[in-house]
Amino acid sequence: MTRPIGSSTFKFARLNLLSVNAFDTFDAHGVQVHPYGPHIFHTNSARIVEFLSRFTQWRPYEHRVLAKVGELLLPIPINRTTINRLYGLALDEAGAAAFLDQAREPRATLANSEDVVLNSVGRDLCEKFYRGYTRKQWGLDLAQLAAGVAARIPVRTTDDDRYFTDTFQCMPAAGYTAMFQRMLDHPLITFETGVAFEAVRQALPYRHLVYTGPIDAYFDHCYGRLPYRSLEFQHEHRRATPLVQTVGTVNYPNDFEFTRSTEFRHLTGQPHDGTTLVREYPRAHGESFYPIPAADNEALYQRYKARAAATADVTFVGRLAQYRYYNMDQVVGAALAASDGLVARLLKRRT
Ligand code: UDP
Repeated sequence: MTRPIGSSTFKFARLNLLSVNAFDTFDAHGVQVHPYGPHIFHTNSARIVEFLSRFTQWRPYEHRVLAKVGELLLPIPINRTTINRLYGLALDEAGAAAFLDQAREPRATLANSEDVVLNSVGRDLCEKFYRGYTRKQWGLDLAQLAAGVAARIPVRTTDDDRYFTDTFQCMPAAGYTAMFQRMLDHPLITFETGVAFEAVRQALPYRHLVYTGPIDAYFDHCYGRLPYRSLEFQHEHRRATPLVQTVGTVNYPNDFEFTRSTEFRHLTGQPHDGTTLVREYPRAHGESFYPIPAADNEALYQRYKARAAATADVTFVGRLAQYRYYNMDQVVGAALAASDGLVARLLKRRT
């Protein structure tokens, strides 16, 4: 919980609305880990980089992911190498484009994630790389998910095997926790952890509240529950070993109960003689991590959003409060936009 507005002096600090789940820490073996799964920062926004750079230095890191399909470990997003290695071909870029053109099932409208995948890569690649992963991750079929979910993953005919292509791809040099600590180190900010909003909402004195929890919970689920997807994280440390994976993350679209395995030292660059990995097991119940992008959920969210809009002394921002599948930079962007709006309002009220 963050209470940044000093009412007596009417000063206010830039609000910080990053999810507390993005923190990092050192495990029992001294390896820097992300307890809530891999957080990889990437953005095309100069303003977001500029803002965060007030609180951290950066370490360049470009994330790469391999997907295990049968006995092969192949680049995802699907690229020229993926196609050539999967099908035993030696296509150049134009050849890979022609291959996809012949494989794809063109769709007039891209109404859901299945349309997106079939329209871009066709059925075989869909079944090998997307359908199983999506079923595991969301407990839903591709066809039940909004188009934007699968559209997060591009398809390439080049050899570019980076997961992201943003202009800025870096991790906070000393980690996320250090960055958040500097962000919160301000005389007008009091920060408390382990306090449930429900437990303090009646007693909480505020002129304006910035709420980042689930929007349906704020309104006592009056229109019904919005669904969220959760994850269970299983960490494994291996002593005295070189890195186990050749890339930061290996995806398992078809095997096992977990979706992916991430080896932290790729992300952090930390020298250590052991290594720690995390496997992600999707769960229907547990802490809310992901909104579930689907048409009926969006319709329900819109009802809550209308109530939120009529609640003038509360700003709703973040993945859970806006029911948006935000990346880290998008959360920062949303927080900065909310902050701009709030500052403008408070200044107006003052004059
Ligand atoms: N996806 C997939 N296969 C993969 C990677 C992703 O089908 O190997 C689909 C899946 O539906 C997933 C979505 O694309 O939930 C977005 O993937 P992303 O890696 O962006 O998920 P996040 O890191 O946000 O969990």
